[in-house]
Amino acid sequence: MFDKLSDRLGGVFDRLRGRGALNEADVREAMREVRVALLEADVALPVVREFVDKATEKAVGQSVLKSVTPGQQVVKIVNDALVEMLGAEQSDLNLAVAPPAIIMMVGLQGSGKTTTTAKIAKMLKAKQGKKVLMASLDVNRPAAQEQLATLGTQTEVATLPIVQGQQPVDIAKRAMQAAKLQGFDVLLLDTAGRLHVDQQLMDEMQAVAKVSAPQEILLVVDSLTGQDAVNVAKNFGERVDLTGIVLTRMDGDARGGAALSMRAITGKPIKFAGVGEKLDALEAFNPERVAGRILGMGDVVGLVERAAEIVDKDEADKLAAKMAKGQFDMDDLRTQFRQMTKMGGLGALAGMMPGMKKAKAAMDASGMNDKLLIHMDAIIGSMTPKERAKPELLNAKRKIRIAKGSGMTVQDVNKLIKMHQEMATAMKRIRKMGGLKGLAAMFG
Ligand code: GDP
Ligand code: MG
Repeated sequence: MFDKLSDRLGGVFDRLRGRGALNEADVREAMREVRVALLEADVALPVVREFVDKATEKAVGQSVLKSVTPGQQVVKIVNDALVEMLGAEQSDLNLAVAPPAIIMMVGLQGSGKTTTTAKIAKMLKAKQGKKVLMASLDVNRPAAQEQLATLGTQTEVATLPIVQGQQPVDIAKRAMQAAKLQGFDVLLLDTAGRLHVDQQLMDEMQAVAKVSAPQEILLVVDSLTGQDAVNVAKNFGERVDLTGIVLTRMDGDARGGAALSMRAITGKPIKFAGVGEKLDALEAFNPERVAGRILGMGDVVGLVERAAEIVDKDEADKLAAKMAKGQFDMDDLRTQFRQMTKMGGLGALAGMMPGMKKAKAAMDASGMNDKLLIHMDAIIGSMTPKERAKPELLNAKRKIRIAKGSGMTVQDVNKLIKMHQEMATAMKRIRKMGGLKGLAAMFG
């Protein structure tokens, strides 16, 4: 149900074909669909509004690419705006201070703070050779401190010995002292969460931040957080100086809308993504991947980029004009074959477009493959210009000559002729869409 943004946009934009630029009214209409996609991906409403305004501004006035549908083009524009907003820059942890560098983890209960603490500790130890100490300041949940100790044993990272009855601020002070005395490079402070933002939690968190003055305060957020993301981001962001965000459970089926909400509301970079319960399931945040996920698209973006690059605009214009007259000859078919080959072949096309998967299966079943594209190209090459323009001239004698000339069989020649006929018929039916989309529709 999700991966239909380009289809939806296709309808909006069909009538836009042949015009020079994306105009405001059409873009606004398309953005209504983008808005739905963002809300389905759980992006918070105020963020959706802000984003749509920005993307609209970018899209209006862009000249229409002939080789992709305007819908696909808008998806690309929206995608680029998403990537930009999610933060194209890679941001590492800031540990460049006199040791110990202190990293404080904050967030709601169950968001994944304790797990992420252990993951970051493990990563710093393994990849940067850091000497790391972890301390749990969670005195609310029974066994929370033991949970971190267990993770410490699993990752072979030191944890602060547990002293019963101590309050979070005192544990933080003890941890800092231990880290300093024992020469740790990094101290990770895992704090307590609540089910919802509340005053006591915020006060406690502020007090800990004040005594420990961390280099990094990372807000840990479950990627399934929906509209509540606004409250979480605002409340935490207003009370402490967040330096970054960690999104957990990106291995689940969340569409990643929380990433956009968090980023937009706090203005802080998303530094990591949690992608599983295992302690090495932590990745650097990848804005491109998350943007694709939010829009629910295959790599339409890559397709549009390649199409814009490769497909000759004049050629596309010529073909569009011919199709408008209901003509589609062998030369046109060859042009289509070549464009498909240039774009990486049928498999690449199928991989890039969600709707092409079914089409690819149908092509496989009918023996259509990349080698065949080349063979068909060779057969067309053995035809005279007259034959190419008027395929109905192809009688038995001509077919034998062409088969010989191209090193193929008469059967192959017949196959091509049949393909051309089917395509010409399909092209007539769908000529207002044209180009690649026409091909996809024919094979689908
Ligand atoms: P805390 O209350 O914020 O400290 O949350 P925990 O670290 O105790 O995590 C709560 C649950 O979420 C645990 O069962 C974790 O294994 C799980 N969890 C944390 N991060 C991830 C993640 O990235 N992916 C998945 N699938 N589970 C996670
Ligand atoms: Mg915890």
